[in-house]
Amino acid sequence: MAGIYIHIPFCMQKCGYCDFYSLVGLSDKSEFVSALCAEISLRKDELVSPSVNTVYFGGGTPSVLKIADFECIILALKETYDLSNLQEFTIEVNPDDINLAYLLELKKLGFNRLSMGIQSFNDRILSFMNRRHSTQEAVKAVEMAQIAGFDNISIDLIYGIPDMSQAEWKNSIDSAIALQVQHISAYHLTIEPGTAFYKKLKLNIIHEVEDKKSIAQYNVLIDKLTRAGFDDYEISNFSLPGYQSKHNSSYWNFKNYVGLGPSAHSFIGHTRRWNVADLKKYMHQIKKEEIFYEEEILSETDIYNETIMLGLRTKNGVRLSDIESMNKEIVRFFNERMRNNILFKKIYILDGRLKVYKDKKILTDQIISDFFVV
Ligand code: SF4
Repeated sequence: MAGIYIHIPFCMQKCGYCDFYSLVGLSDKSEFVSALCAEISLRKDELVSPSVNTVYFGGGTPSVLKIADFECIILALKETYDLSNLQEFTIEVNPDDINLAYLLELKKLGFNRLSMGIQSFNDRILSFMNRRHSTQEAVKAVEMAQIAGFDNISIDLIYGIPDMSQAEWKNSIDSAIALQVQHISAYHLTIEPGTAFYKKLKLNIIHEVEDKKSIAQYNVLIDKLTRAGFDDYEISNFSLPGYQSKHNSSYWNFKNYVGLGPSAHSFIGHTRRWNVADLKKYMHQIKKEEIFYEEEILSETDIYNETIMLGLRTKNGVRLSDIESMNKEIVRFFNERMRNNILFKKIYILDGRLKVYKDKKILTDQIISDFFVV
């Protein structure tokens, strides 16, 4: 079983924090849809089995596409893959793009999970981040999705935002819970080079949030969501029972996935591939049937590092037997780091798995880097 990720590289405006590959506007949309359908067909033999159990439309902003665009893409998917065992069919939507008719059409197309980029329930913060929607539109969008019959809705939130107070953050979490969604993804803001926030940071217009404040925001997130019945199954992902993201879980469990569209990543066997992050080049190279990606074969060290990085971020942790089968040098290094971190009560072993203590989760990135072989 495998997954498919489809990257839609268009946005109506660029959010201040975003470093995902996307272009503002829709000027090459039709040509892109044709190139994407061609890529789907070109790559039909990559998976050992054509059976796919998750499909995820991300971006960019998939909800800027018309229903007819999805019909073309889904037809190409059906002609290439066996979707009869499809368990999860997700689309990322922005609140300002959707209305009830559009949502009903998405449902008809077979989408059974919506991931909504809300980020905050505070108009001042939304405007600071250069989001297009208001709090009221976000609430209305979730309610419309529920009326349209979506019963698996995820909301994205961001914390660690400059000048966001603890009260504003608590209010965003409470608003998300009140909407009775099944899944919440909450990411700490990272200010990446190339973003509008990065420029502001360099000009001293904004400042990164102090660690103390970030920790307090993470703690209140865990506390409120746990009380509301959400399981913190991954450091940034929280779900009601039975609503873990199957697609994202397959990334964390090293399942194969094919990434389609400019900048999309794929992982098949031990090979990681990333498509060119340039729409014009992508379309041109697909048309000419030229190579439109780069790839690398992961070494054992890469696989070790990824096993640690992905595993320690999840509640299931790292399966010790996965490490024990690696080469002696890696195992020796791992055991030494494990002893140290257990001594400092950061991690523990349960049922053959290495996990991070709940009260040390905020230190997960630090713990992971301590285990890294460079
Ligand atoms: S956060 Fe989403 S909507 Fe905003 S620019 Fe990035 S991809 Fe586009």
